[in-house]
Amino acid sequence: MLKVRGLTKKYGDTAVVRGLDLDVRRGECFGLLGPNGAGKTTTLRLLLGLIEPDSGSIELAGIAVPKHAREARMKVGVVPQMDNLDPDFSVRENLLAYGRYFGMDRSAIAARVPELLEFAGLASKADAPIEQLSGGMKRRLTLARALVHDPDILFLDEPTTGLDPQARHLIWQGLRRLLNEGKTIVLTTHFMDEAERLADRLVILDHGRVVAEGAPRALIESHIEPAVVEVFGEDMADWTRARAAGLCQRFETVGETLFCYTGSPDTVIAALKQVPALRYLHRPSNLEDVFLKLTGRDLRD
Ligand code: ADP
Repeated sequence: MLKVRGLTKKYGDTAVVRGLDLDVRRGECFGLLGPNGAGKTTTLRLLLGLIEPDSGSIELAGIAVPKHAREARMKVGVVPQMDNLDPDFSVRENLLAYGRYFGMDRSAIAARVPELLEFAGLASKADAPIEQLSGGMKRRLTLARALVHDPDILFLDEPTTGLDPQARHLIWQGLRRLLNEGKTIVLTTHFMDEAERLADRLVILDHGRVVAEGAPRALIESHIEPAVVEVFGEDMADWTRARAAGLCQRFETVGETLFCYTGSPDTVIAALKQVPALRYLHRPSNLEDVFLKLTGRDLRD
């Protein structure tokens, strides 16, 4: 569904996308991860043909972009980072207006509206003004709106940012349903649990380049020790100096927390129990550990 080769984009003298290769298969959920400024939004804009690359090639649903970008965009549904629903229209009218933007005739859109409302869980809100919707409802409507022309592939830019846990679960459920129906999804997210849960494969971008690529579980297994013990508490620094190097396969301290990466958490925990002033959290390693190992712990903006 998507084939990208050697994609490069410069702003002034700065290359913000540097020789990107991507392949996304039909029916797959593909994650685009990276710290702020890594080049995710620029990449999405390039893929949609909204900006011109300096070099490289893009094929979206078999169509060359940016040369035939308008035709390619007919195959794509876009859920932008910020909801841009029309506040002057009702829920139903937003769907109708968006369908017309894609050149659909009124009867074709009207026939599709009930299933889109059902998908968004908004059947009872069809005639409600946008301002009466919660954040989660607006997000679900934006997602339903992106489906109005029955696209093959969906681009989602941080689909659950700003939503509460219940609303996030509803969005995930909707995305899972779309994947089961055979849609292809390209997703950016800052939530590693979201990427781990949804993405079949993902890339981690940093400074415009791919620094890791693969299935979430495979990335965790290949980059990180199996378990993490996070140690915090007043005596953490003393304990770190005395014991961490001997007990952890690898460790890092960030602020008042020590991250102890290990294949033998029981040994670490037994040692920690000797120091009651310390608190700890034992957990399996996850995608966030991979992300932080590869992109560092420094703030980017
Ligand atoms: P991300 O979405 O991963 O946070 P972006 O693609 O938005 O990253 O930005 C990548 C880099 O490109 C950043 O350093 C950003 O400042 C720069 N950038 C993005 N858009 C422009 C623009 N229109 N003009 C100049 N620089 C830009």
